[in-house]
Amino acid sequence: MAGLAGTSIASGQVAGLRSATPRDLQNLVGDGRRRRILLRGGVVLSLDPRVGDFEKADVLIDGKTIAQVAPTISAGDAEVVDCSGTIVMPGFITTHHHHYETLGRSIIADGRLNGVWPEETYGTVVQNIWTTGRITEPGTRGSPGKVIWDLGRVPYDPEDLYISEVVACLSEMSEGVTCGTDTSQANHTPAHTDAMIKGLMDSGRRSVFDYGGGTDRSAEGFPFEAPGAMNDTTKGVGRLAKTYFSSKDQLVTLGFGGGPGPAFPGAPYTGFQLGRSFGAFLNSGTSFSGWQVPIVEAAADPRNGTDWSDVTRVHATHLQDEPLAQIGAGSSGYPNKSDSKFWEIWRDRGAHVSLANVIEMAMGHGMPAFQQALNHGILPSLSPDVDTNMTTDPFSLMRGAFCLQRALANDLAFKESNPGNLPIPQLLTSRQCIEMVTIAGAAASGLLNKVGTLTPGKEADIVILEARSINTWPMNNVPGTIVTMMNPRHVRDVFIAGKVVYWKHGLVGWNVDRVLTQVQQARDRVLARINGPAKVGKIPKYNNSFADPYRPNFLESCCFKGQNKASPEYVLRP
Ligand SMILES: [Zn+2]
Repeated sequence: MAGLAGTSIASGQVAGLRSATPRDLQNLVGDGRRRRILLRGGVVLSLDPRVGDFEKADVLIDGKTIAQVAPTISAGDAEVVDCSGTIVMPGFITTHHHHYETLGRSIIADGRLNGVWPEETYGTVVQNIWTTGRITEPGTRGSPGKVIWDLGRVPYDPEDLYISEVVACLSEMSEGVTCGTDTSQANHTPAHTDAMIKGLMDSGRRSVFDYGGGTDRSAEGFPFEAPGAMNDTTKGVGRLAKTYFSSKDQLVTLGFGGGPGPAFPGAPYTGFQLGRSFGAFLNSGTSFSGWQVPIVEAAADPRNGTDWSDVTRVHATHLQDEPLAQIGAGSSGYPNKSDSKFWEIWRDRGAHVSLANVIEMAMGHGMPAFQQALNHGILPSLSPDVDTNMTTDPFSLMRGAFCLQRALANDLAFKESNPGNLPIPQLLTSRQCIEMVTIAGAAASGLLNKVGTLTPGKEADIVILEARSINTWPMNNVPGTIVTMMNPRHVRDVFIAGKVVYWKHGLVGWNVDRVLTQVQQARDRVLARINGPAKVGKIPKYNNSFADPYRPNFLESCCFKGQNKASPEYVLRP
């Protein structure tokens, strides 16, 4: 595929995705001069106990930062934004999301992580077909495995990744998510990586680019550079650090998906060491090698250090070492004791977790580990993970956490449901759920010094939620309104580093229609490649929606045709 590795990506501006700033916003957006904006008269949740929360207050933005939060602030030369009837709070922050999968939105909505192949699963449809362009025999996923279908290339070109990233960011900005982590498992060539980073940077959202894996097709002539090597700035993480992340004072920062084991097979240093040597935050736990090392062993390895406040583990399911741990009981009893070595290490070293709670519930990762985290004094952050199965909407994440934890606790409160008399886990509050997608999100992104609370001196990442709305008013409890009542339609305005990026329910400076056209065209290009001639075999046709040629099953269940046999047929009664 000539040109694949060399495709250069035009910026959003050049590609015609941007639009002019509306006239009424000129004063807010400014022309590069330092601007002051006064958010006047909203309910203010600073989420910083030293600042406090207010039934009514003003927030002054000065350039990039929050200058003041107080009951009344004189406007002076500031542009005044009327925030009466709104909640003014820190922007939402999620901590694990594969942006490149935006093209495959809800493609396997009914699908699970793994299953009996060739059931349509994340492993087969998303990772094999859409990501690597290669299917191996059942049970041999990954290498070496017996290849039964192979395109000879990955289905995505860099330009497809670029638009995917832009849409992922704009979409989340419209939902009030001012910062997200892009877990980039599409680093197939340096050009693919560059396109993803460019998409993040062009979007104007705050992001952690979590440098993860890709499909090594160097045998077919495509250059492959991941993960890079210590002291080497010509490839992999070292190249990225030098090219894009020499400054920390920018919206996009560097993460690295390496673990506490060898950075790559045979490496004399660990993934933690490699990432840290280039100033990267250590996320994911789902990329590269290095997470296969038992956590107790990894913690005993002096090369990994003892301060793990720069480490976030994604999907902390099934990390307990005794069977009852997930609901928090533990043989020693809730709430102070647990036998889980993983969680003790995580607590003692100040590390973070990212629970993709709604995805984990839907796709079979295991029970989201809220109780385990809370038992160890860790406030988990939340993440949407994959658009192939679920929304990125932060209200869904908060509500999912709130209801799941209560379902577990409330069920155990019934004697019939709890013959073993397990201790009943604590309920989550609305406020705790809000803290998970703000403070905990910032901490699990290595950015709590910059964002996560409305604290003077921090950068002004702010969401303004419309509470005076037909389906939320009158407002009687502020955290409850956010977690149990609201959805993305209540997001009115969004600021990132003091800049308005979403205003009166619309993205600022983007031609959304063109963006949507381009993302659909990218989806169609990728699909055409998948359905095109393969180097080896063809996509197998089975009794489910693996059609030939393969395309998403548009109107029926994507994944369960005759596979859900546990329950009797039900009768529709129209
Ligand atoms: Zn993931």
